[in-house]
Amino acid sequence: MTTSRIATKRALFQWIATLTLLLLPQIKIGGQSLLRLDAPSRTLLFFGASIRIEEFYLFLIVVLIMVFSFLFVTMLFGRVWCGWFCPQTTITDLAEFFDKKAAKLLPNKYAAGVIKQVAALLISFVVASNLIWYFIPPGEYFTRLSHGTLGPVAGISLAAIFALVYFDLLFVRRLFCKMVCPYGRIQLLTMDRNTLTLEFNPLLKESCIRCGACTRTCPMGIDIRTGLQIECINCGRCLDACRGVMSRMKKEGLIHYTFGVRSEGGGKPLNRKSVMLGMVLVILSALLIYGVTTRKEATLKIQRASNGEVRQLPDGAIINFYTAFIENRSTIQGVYSLRVAPVAGFTTELIGPARQITIDANGNRKVDFVLKVSPAPASRRDLELQLVRGETVISVTAVPLLVK
Ligand code: SF4
Ligand code: SF4
Repeated sequence: MTTSRIATKRALFQWIATLTLLLLPQIKIGGQSLLRLDAPSRTLLFFGASIRIEEFYLFLIVVLIMVFSFLFVTMLFGRVWCGWFCPQTTITDLAEFFDKKAAKLLPNKYAAGVIKQVAALLISFVVASNLIWYFIPPGEYFTRLSHGTLGPVAGISLAAIFALVYFDLLFVRRLFCKMVCPYGRIQLLTMDRNTLTLEFNPLLKESCIRCGACTRTCPMGIDIRTGLQIECINCGRCLDACRGVMSRMKKEGLIHYTFGVRSEGGGKPLNRKSVMLGMVLVILSALLIYGVTTRKEATLKIQRASNGEVRQLPDGAIINFYTAFIENRSTIQGVYSLRVAPVAGFTTELIGPARQITIDANGNRKVDFVLKVSPAPASRRDLELQLVRGETVISVTAVPLLVK
């Protein structure tokens, strides 16, 4: 392994994570973002599925998957999230990169200061915009931003996030990981003796030349030689530094990644706990896939017209007035019709715009219609109203037919 491999790998993972966060709301399946919470329609767009907020059980499964994924990753890999994926680490690394470049290329410290400020402002704007894209599609966001029509909620959110990130880049940076972020503390509860950590090899302790390269390079100000510390973000910079020093003496580095310490019973990432957590995740994912793929593509709700009118016609038929609420939960436009299931001895007819109802993906329609039944039944009875697409029955509900 060369001296730069951990740094290179970490940079690669950071780029992948950053691009994923930037692109998730931009990539579209069936015209819908891969991941976005569409506030106006109260719908979570989740990798091709549109989950309405009313579908509470699916929301719950999504939240559980996130919680168990967090536990699973932390138990196996410790704070690898912090050092390799966390946006806070990435934007701090970026800001430090610009700081160093500006100081190196521009001898005038005021010019270098301007470059640092511009970089911090740019990073803050991209982060704030990226967060808003999870609620407003990026194309619409830029149009509304350029026309000044973002609206108060999105506008204030954008300004607040922008200001927070800018303040963070100017004054906080790594202090956030050390003092504010609760993840390091939570990690202590989830990690076990097999969790991935950085270790100063105690067997090679005598080879340490006390050059201090590992401590100088540590962004968290830790001396890994004194043992695992809660502030360590598993970034591997100390490992690279030590390898660099030791390779010049044709020796191997003294710091390495390890899944727990073997002498203390660790060293087995695939243990009973991790397998059980992995199984819970598989079951929850299967439940989510089942729930999303087997739910109705559209729903139908019926309400009697507000005046509750019932009329007897001269030919002996009876008419009732209703309003239908139809919701297309799929990701494509649908054309639906309403029809009444046949009732022996009666003729039924729907009067009103009950056929060829076009509803956009994830949209809904309210349809007023009249139900005519002839002859009028002797007493109130429930009829079956069907929502169909072509000849396929999508949803069924009962309509109460009142008589005079
Ligand atoms: S001790 Fe090593 S792995 Fe931990 S934060 Fe410092 S440099 Fe990164
Ligand atoms: S970089 Fe390696 S050799 Fe130098 S002080 Fe740290 S552990 Fe010892």
